[in-house]
Amino acid sequence: MTQAPSSADHGYSFQGKFVLTGELECVTGLRIGGSTEGFEIGGLDNPVIRDPVSEEPYIPGSSLKGKLRHLLEWKLGKIERHPKHGIYTAHSCGDCPACWIFGVASDEEDVRKRSGPSRLTVRDARLTAACREKLAEPTGRLFTEIKSENALDRITSSAMPRPMERVPPGACFGIEMIFDVYRDDDRRLLHDLLTAMRLLEDSALGSSGSRGYGKVRFKNLRLVWRPLAYYSQYPPPAGAEEVWAEEVASTDKLQQKIGERVEQRAGQAAG
Ligand SMILES: [Zn+2]
Repeated sequence: MTQAPSSADHGYSFQGKFVLTGELECVTGLRIGGSTEGFEIGGLDNPVIRDPVSEEPYIPGSSLKGKLRHLLEWKLGKIERHPKHGIYTAHSCGDCPACWIFGVASDEEDVRKRSGPSRLTVRDARLTAACREKLAEPTGRLFTEIKSENALDRITSSAMPRPMERVPPGACFGIEMIFDVYRDDDRRLLHDLLTAMRLLEDSALGSSGSRGYGKVRFKNLRLVWRPLAYYSQYPPPAGAEEVWAEEVASTDKLQQKIGERVEQRAGQAAG
């Protein structure tokens, strides 16, 4: 095993990266709002966000990461009023899994030092090739559907139809998350990341979650570990990459596998 470079006084040293890939399937319609610019007045409410080049709907990494952080903060009891700005926003204690995984936005050096570099990078999620093919026929180049929703006039009870654009149920997006390891214990944080993903599956992504939109599930998950040695030479030495999980069907199964691997590794280190 390659020795990590000696850590400086801050206590962090780069050990390698976990690469988590898989698919995010829309179980119900998904709406992540785009810009209404370019749409005529009286046109669509809340068009779906699209890649400006391909014009295909996608899920911004920041939306996915933000929602995962939010759910983990609630789970950890870390929804607090910001000490300076007075609003309930992403907290920055520097001492909890949410801060370690997602990073802190703090101007206090001590908090930033305790938190260390944020471990997680979430890439934009794009339609999978299979899904693109499946959706192209019924939806044309749009890859979305327009659903008419009724907004009820509270006085006259007359329904006013509002056209809503959404990514249809069954659509699949390819996800990629990179998880950097700077301390031995960082591997245990994968457990918290998987918990956040499970919370998302029982929550909603995007808007109108309380009206049934945005139910998603993760599937076909793959987790590989790329240690420092993997990046030390090109091409990477054979066997440098370690597959932790392959074609795992669900988040709970992946979480179980990660738990086993982390314990196994801790056992080897102790023995
Ligand atoms: Zn924290």
